[in-house]
Amino acid sequence: MEHGGMTDANLRRHLLLAPLAELAADSRRVRDARGPQRLTYSRKVFIPLTQLCRDVCRYCTFAKAPRGLASAYLAPEEVLAIARAGAASGCKEALFTLGDKPELRYASAREALAGLGFATTVDYLEHVAGRVIAETGLIPHINAGVLTPPDYARLRRVSGSMGLMLESASERLCARGGPHFGSPDKRPAVRLASIAAAGAAAVPFTSGLLIGIGETRAERLDGLFALRDLHRTWGHLQEVIVQNFRAKQDTPMVSWPEPSEDELLWTVAASRLVLDASVSIQSPPNLNPGRTAALIEAGLDDWGGISPVTIDHVNPEAPWPQIEALASECAAAGRPLVERLTAHPTFVQAADRWLDPGVAKALRRLADSEGLARDDAWSPGVAEAAPGSPARPLGVAPALAPHLCLDRLLNRAVAGETLQETDIVRLFSARGAAAEAVVACADQLRQAISGDVVTYVVNRNINYTNICTYSCSFCAFSKTSAKSGARDKPYDLQLDEIASRVTDAWARGATEVCLQGGIHPRYTGETYVQILRTVKSAQPAMHVHAFSPLEVSQGAATLGVSVHDYLGRLKDEGLGSLPGTAAEILDDEVRALICPDKPNTAQWLEVVSAAHKVGLPTTATIMFGHLERPEHWARHLLAIRRQQFATGGFTEFVPLPFVHMLSPVYLRGQARRGPTWREAVLMHAVARIGLNGAIGSIQASWVKLGIDGAAACLSAGVNDLGGVLMNESISRAAGAAHGQELTVADLRQAAASAGRPLRQRTTLYGEPEHRNTAAAAS
Ligand code: SF4
Repeated sequence: MEHGGMTDANLRRHLLLAPLAELAADSRRVRDARGPQRLTYSRKVFIPLTQLCRDVCRYCTFAKAPRGLASAYLAPEEVLAIARAGAASGCKEALFTLGDKPELRYASAREALAGLGFATTVDYLEHVAGRVIAETGLIPHINAGVLTPPDYARLRRVSGSMGLMLESASERLCARGGPHFGSPDKRPAVRLASIAAAGAAAVPFTSGLLIGIGETRAERLDGLFALRDLHRTWGHLQEVIVQNFRAKQDTPMVSWPEPSEDELLWTVAASRLVLDASVSIQSPPNLNPGRTAALIEAGLDDWGGISPVTIDHVNPEAPWPQIEALASECAAAGRPLVERLTAHPTFVQAADRWLDPGVAKALRRLADSEGLARDDAWSPGVAEAAPGSPARPLGVAPALAPHLCLDRLLNRAVAGETLQETDIVRLFSARGAAAEAVVACADQLRQAISGDVVTYVVNRNINYTNICTYSCSFCAFSKTSAKSGARDKPYDLQLDEIASRVTDAWARGATEVCLQGGIHPRYTGETYVQILRTVKSAQPAMHVHAFSPLEVSQGAATLGVSVHDYLGRLKDEGLGSLPGTAAEILDDEVRALICPDKPNTAQWLEVVSAAHKVGLPTTATIMFGHLERPEHWARHLLAIRRQQFATGGFTEFVPLPFVHMLSPVYLRGQARRGPTWREAVLMHAVARIGLNGAIGSIQASWVKLGIDGAAACLSAGVNDLGGVLMNESISRAAGAAHGQELTVADLRQAAASAGRPLRQRTTLYGEPEHRNTAAAAS
């Protein structure tokens, strides 16, 4: 039972008797309860590997006789040329659609395969699909007809998803005179068995109905219930296509009446109401020009693949809509059009269960935090400028009205209410005008709380060692004493070198040194005390912002004292504040994957709490964009908010976008390419909103975002640009290209680009007494 608790028999009766308007309204309700109100599509190229087919469906113009084709199969070079053209146009899917086992019918197919060096179509398909992934980065979606369990096992290694239209559950249509007569692969039982085999092989799968070829509504429902039952067994159906028959010239069904719009809409609504809510409902937009709004009203949520490069070889007479035009139509219906990958988001996010490891790696490179397609080429740490600008910070497509409930949610946050996890996830999922509304709200809050002044601190980073006994999977900075990294050799600074850097920094106008390093096997709690004394001896007035919660807990453990007592000692020795790093993502599910040996969430919060209690303020950070999801971001923000209400020692919140390039977890294919630009901007904006009433300063990290990116975030709730950071080396070790140091003039220019004044601050947001602005500005 699914819909309204009805039995299958009652649901069937209801679907056959209820008016379309009522069914469409129910369908919309089910669709809208699925999550964010958006419509998806996949940007693809269509690769008709072979148009020979052993079946003879009466409506089909895709299948050709050998004499109608220049060659039986596309050559590998032709396939790759299509895929490369797609990659150049931003496509991420290579749709392989081909005839069913033509070598069983045509000698010319067998000869062509032999000439290519393959025995079967599936052999050749496996080869070229593998080359498409490896050489172009596009992810194949394979429609190769009825396949066997071994076929699925092989092709799964070279594809992100596969598909087989059920078309119809009606055996009648296979009888003499029917559209499927003489097509052995169109027998419903054969197709359902193949779809089940795909489920057993854990293949993200697409199926669907072809409507209007002689079946009744009751027979359509038979098909939908059969698909639903297979999905309930295997969980593999990502989408069901409702495809309307089009009468084509030169086919036996040229005069067959096409299904009416009501038939199409009824089937879309019935599909939504029969199938589980996790399954997307799709209808091809090129077969239904002028019906976009009606299909959305009937409960559709996906438009399938659309190509800016190739035609629809199955319906060559029906051009794809322009993606921009479709986006405008979706916007008019109040929903953004969002690009997805060939595997739908839930399957991308559960890649270990559903995808071959090599394919999962390729898909993660294309994915955002929701498992959808990245919407631009930007990544943290890359040299190119961020795509945003103060005028259009998210670079998004057509305007649409944000929903009223988003306004209500933002109003609650502005009033200082603590949002729920689901509310914060909702803010992170905002796209289009909704995202711009979130950013505008954050900007207004920033103005009200911090005014227009943009602050910064003149500081120097001293990463005293990169030798580390920990093995955080995201970290490209740490080295063992024997192993060099891609950019850096292992090092351990002498105390006199630290002193010399402190003296030099003071001479250049620094008010702070920020000290952090790896967990060196010889370091004890006394080592950190010595480092602290060294700094204070070199320059007593220098603010020491040092030692992550990990280093503090490590130092205390080596001395056998409590964290509280150790922090008290560090404070007595002159420690001024702690960087709130090593927080990564404050959720143990994620920590177990990226930093299993680090303090867990509760332990990190305990150290921070102890610091606050002994009078040592800390910053709070989040390192995001690797393998976590928006719900983890929400939990992190809520943990920080709760801690601040308990102990009140956070000075600022600093989002640290994950720099992927040389990160081990990325190189192993287990992480994304950092946050997208939209996600990076929203992290600052949602932090401003979600921490309203708790933390008043939101900082942008130019080291990760680039100075252009940090400047753009000034319009998204940010009031602080952090430090000039002479010698930043952690992001650089991960591959960031934004340099190790900025001048005050650079920061002033960044603030000016947002129309804002710049002011130097101390670490704790006071007025600096020590100013050597000439030196700092040099
Ligand atoms: S993040 Fe820190 S603790 Fe983890 S490996 Fe890198 S340097 Fe070591």
